[in-house]
Amino acid sequence: MKINDEEMKSRIRELRGKSNAVILAHNYQLAEAQEVADFVGDSLQLSIEASKTDADVILFCGVRFMAETAYILSPDKMVLLPSLRSGCPMADMAEPEELAALKSEHPEAIVVAYVNTSAEIKALSDICVTSSNAVAIVRSIPAEKEIIFVPDRNLGAYVARETGRKLVLWDGFCPTHLRISADDIKLARRLHSEAKVIVHPESTLDVIDLADEVLSTGGMLKFAGKTDADEIVVATEIGMLFRLCAENPDKRFYPATEQAVCPNMKHNRLEDILEALERMRHSITVPENIRGKALTAIERMLDFQ
Ligand code: SF4
Repeated sequence: MKINDEEMKSRIRELRGKSNAVILAHNYQLAEAQEVADFVGDSLQLSIEASKTDADVILFCGVRFMAETAYILSPDKMVLLPSLRSGCPMADMAEPEELAALKSEHPEAIVVAYVNTSAEIKALSDICVTSSNAVAIVRSIPAEKEIIFVPDRNLGAYVARETGRKLVLWDGFCPTHLRISADDIKLARRLHSEAKVIVHPESTLDVIDLADEVLSTGGMLKFAGKTDADEIVVATEIGMLFRLCAENPDKRFYPATEQAVCPNMKHNRLEDILEALERMRHSITVPENIRGKALTAIERMLDFQ
């Protein structure tokens, strides 16, 4: 018998208690996933929060690399991904064999990996970065050191410009942010002339150039809470607007384009979350030899903060 959404939510909460689980939802997840989550945020922040809890199970409404990161930080917990269809096309653009080959072409280079990568890529990297600390971390690397930046060429180009460093850029990109064009921003400015425009640095430089602020998702939330502006145009994945609106009911948010949807982030429906908890299914793990190296790259970043 099919049960309705409210019944599913209450069953999810019941099973969460019984299995001592914590439910995490990335900012880009469906509203229904965000509604049943204990924590909503960006992927690294969520994994850190979960590692501090005494939960036995982490159910991660996000994409696979996020669940891997949660496991890397909490190998004693069971990490569940509700839908195995939740992959990240950008993370998949970086193959470990190809990165190993690039490293052998640049044997002295420091490898800087955006956290949106597989555990294998993190394990081949010297240090991880997020969109909020990438500029500062790259700036901290001695000027004479060559740097490989993987996998996002757009975030990498932004970091290169901000730091004045020449980076060896991997040719990956986020297809969702690529859907946001400079014309979208120009149109949004015409339609909402009083609005501030905030842009995620996974966007292309021509879009970034039109922004009032270039911000990570966490930075967007902080900005929205502090700014005097009543209207904000948001250039990132559209799911971000759910939390922005929920936390700032007196402000108006507009997506830079309705096309900025990441389909991979929308697979974790209530049915999937419920089934994952009922059957403890889709457990995500990382082999120990990879986990240890990936953890080192993540910890170097955490030590930096
Ligand atoms: S929004 Fe982009 S980076 Fe995030 S999961 Fe989707 S494809 Fe990957």
